[in-house]
Amino acid sequence: MTDCIFCKIINGQLPAKKVYQDELTCAFWDARPASPIHILIVPRHHIPTLNDVPEGDNILAHLGNVAKKIARDLGVDKSGYRFFINVNRGGGQVVYHLHAHLVAGNDVGMLFIKAAVACAVIWRKLVKLFRRQHN
Ligand code: 5GP
Ligand code: ZN
Repeated sequence: MTDCIFCKIINGQLPAKKVYQDELTCAFWDARPASPIHILIVPRHHIPTLNDVPEGDNILAHLGNVAKKIARDLGVDKSGYRFFINVNRGGGQVVYHLHAHLVAGNDVGMLFIKAAVACAVIWRKLVKLFRRQHN
């Protein structure tokens, strides 16, 4: 499809950080990641939504197998990840070229580390402010 963003990424007309490609799919990093790991797995041929996948088409199983492989390569297969497809406007779909999201890295451990770092930064700022006021 001529003005589809994902078709353009697949055929190289638009840039993307690709992580995996085969004869059926192309996978690349989401431009606005919702998590530390956010990969989009996209069929090479243009299908607008999940509703348009014909009965018996094995593309959905293939998207799942690609997600498993990428999760393993990125080391999140054991810790865990989310794999989902948004369908139509009410389902949050924005780009009308079928794609699956692979999202990981928002586990409790990661959130705890981020919170600890944020607390340390705030603490240092407070100490500096306190010292400045008392010097
Ligand atoms: P949807 O909401 O349709 O399921 O997800 C579309 C996703 O595509 C969003 O997470 C959005 O950030 C991502 N996206 C939109 N435009 C681009 C782009 O040009 N490049 C990349 N890599 N991702 C995009
Ligand atoms: Zn397309």
